[in-house]
Amino acid sequence: MSKFIFVTGGVVSSLGKGITGASLAKLLQLRGFKVNMIKCDPYINIDPGTLSPYQHGEVFVTADGAEADLDLGTYERFLDVPMTKANTTTAGGIYQTVIDNERRGDYNGVTVQVIPHITNEIKKRFAAFDKNFDITIIEIGGTVGDIEGLPFLEAARQFRVERGRENVMTLHATLVPYISSAGELKTKPTQHSVNKLREIGIEPDVLACRTEHPISDSMKKKLSLFCSVEPAAVIEVMDAPSIYLVPEELEKQGLTDLVIKRLNLKAKKKNDGKWFDFVRKATSPKKQITVGIAGKYAELKDAYKSVAESLYLAGMSNKVSVKVKYINTQKDPIPASLKGLDAIIVPGGFGKRGIPGKIEAIKYARENKIPFLGICLGMQCTVIEAARNLAGLKDADSTEINPDTKNPVVAMMEDQKKIKKLGGTMRLGNYSAKIRKGSLAHKLYKKDTIEERHRHRYEYNPQFVPLLENCGLKVSAWHKELLPEIVEYPKNPFFIAVQFHPEFASRPLKPHPLFDGLAKAALKNKKN
Ligand code: GLN
Repeated sequence: MSKFIFVTGGVVSSLGKGITGASLAKLLQLRGFKVNMIKCDPYINIDPGTLSPYQHGEVFVTADGAEADLDLGTYERFLDVPMTKANTTTAGGIYQTVIDNERRGDYNGVTVQVIPHITNEIKKRFAAFDKNFDITIIEIGGTVGDIEGLPFLEAARQFRVERGRENVMTLHATLVPYISSAGELKTKPTQHSVNKLREIGIEPDVLACRTEHPISDSMKKKLSLFCSVEPAAVIEVMDAPSIYLVPEELEKQGLTDLVIKRLNLKAKKKNDGKWFDFVRKATSPKKQITVGIAGKYAELKDAYKSVAESLYLAGMSNKVSVKVKYINTQKDPIPASLKGLDAIIVPGGFGKRGIPGKIEAIKYARENKIPFLGICLGMQCTVIEAARNLAGLKDADSTEINPDTKNPVVAMMEDQKKIKKLGGTMRLGNYSAKIRKGSLAHKLYKKDTIEERHRHRYEYNPQFVPLLENCGLKVSAWHKELLPEIVEYPKNPFFIAVQFHPEFASRPLKPHPLFDGLAKAALKNKKN
């Protein structure tokens, strides 16, 4: 049976609950425990698949094809445990299951209610990793006091009663703001949010206090006394230069031992400090490269969260800091805004906006031999660029953008049209691809077959492959000899585009080969 740690948030959103939770998970993992994490999102959407990046940042895709909150990306990067559908839960998904059960007559005619039916379904999801993991950390999205979050918190309260105190604990992430006119940190918002939590019947065991200034011992005592937590359980979480440094900060304050004791566990091994050493060394590099991400959500960094993290992690492994420049392909002048970049990425996306700018950016990268990585829509734009500028098919287009084009170099395949799933006809999750020997892709992956995550409807239309290969754009990986998965332009030292999303599979110590390759190529390009 798993032990459970709930992570709740108070005062404001965006406190980095996900990072605090994932850091604690990492620390417990480094002590030999098998740890998994679950994100509960209290909104009514079934999943964030249809949410605009403006609302929710990037949609993270799991290997088994769930479209999930970007916190799952943080969990996966910290823990190196593959996330699945069971790691993500929304109020919408819970209600849907309960309503489906009700329609089937599963409840034998009783009145279906939030308590117990919704809360029972939530508790079932909490227990997803009961058998195979020692500890499950469950992050409840939103802030204490939100109406939507109540069923999740009520389920968490019941869970502690049912499973016993020594098996369930709560870490409350809160804000301790600094009021500059008074020159003081303030504990009142934390007191209020803890009171709110206690009203619901949940007593926090740990306070993770986000703050811009160190919290003095006397302030910790005050928080401890007023919020009824042990003084040692008042943990300070300051902004760190890198999120991967947060676990060490928490370890230093004794959080791991405190949690292990509180849950009546025995550490399976000592933390050998290797992860901390690696992160510390890797987060203070001397060299820097600048990589442009040319997309349509330039103002909204969370929209490309995993791409930026992948660059950061590739930088860590290559001892170089990666500065990311976001280019809005709808507004920024192209190629002028690309000058001076050491590498260019055109990331995934949906719809027409910003496409001409992306195609221009790809042309610029190709013609100037700038290291280039195209991702999903970025590969589709690469194909359109080659068709228009290398093969002379001036109206070549994707049928997503121009359904009437005479040269549909990117189109929805017949098989794809047949897949009628909720959320549309998306190719989602892991698919395999065979890589051609001798290609750049093969050199990077050092493998013949790969599995990568997909999230798209349209494909590089295989009918156009012979023509574009003749013009220099080679296909270096296929899915079942049917669908092109990777294209490259061997005349350039590093020009590659992929139909899948490599950004979801990067880890500290294990950067994704494509991002690793891009960072190396950018470094080389900088020297020349
Ligand atoms: N809009 C494109 C498609 O549906 C690309 C999707 C993406 O980049 N994730 O195929």
